[in-house]
Amino acid sequence: MRSVDHIVIHCSATPNGRRTTIQDVDRWHVDAGFRRQADWRKKMNPALAAVGYHFLIRTNGALDTGRHLDEVGAHVRGHNATSVGICMVGTDQFARIQWAALASNVTALLKRYPKARVCGHRDLFAGKTCPGFDVTAWMKADMKPHPAHILEVK
Ligand SMILES: [Zn+2]
Repeated sequence: MRSVDHIVIHCSATPNGRRTTIQDVDRWHVDAGFRRQADWRKKMNPALAAVGYHFLIRTNGALDTGRHLDEVGAHVRGHNATSVGICMVGTDQFARIQWAALASNVTALLKRYPKARVCGHRDLFAGKTCPGFDVTAWMKADMKPHPAHILEVK
């Protein structure tokens, strides 16, 4: 098992509430020049050529997988080798069902990697706003989102 010391939360930087899939992100990451290794593609999600994240949480709360957990991601400079990357679709407001999916995904990952620090991209890379909310505050609040970051779905 790969050693993981950070669980890093990202956002897709797409308009809040706009539907985005792992296939969309894969295309963007192809364009950005990312590539997955052939042997990892054979093991998991062979149709995804580039996606840098391990998980994507869609606007409907569905959890898409990207890279294998033992596969090094491409999402946070300087920390890829020992981190897992989760991307929330949106910019700074997410549906309650996305927040619930994030909480259960992070909880499951902490069972697998009990010593890992849960943080936002911006906590590891100065100048970034990603993921658009304070991950430390969210953790301290027992994974309850701040109301300002809840997208009310009509
Ligand atoms: Zn990010």
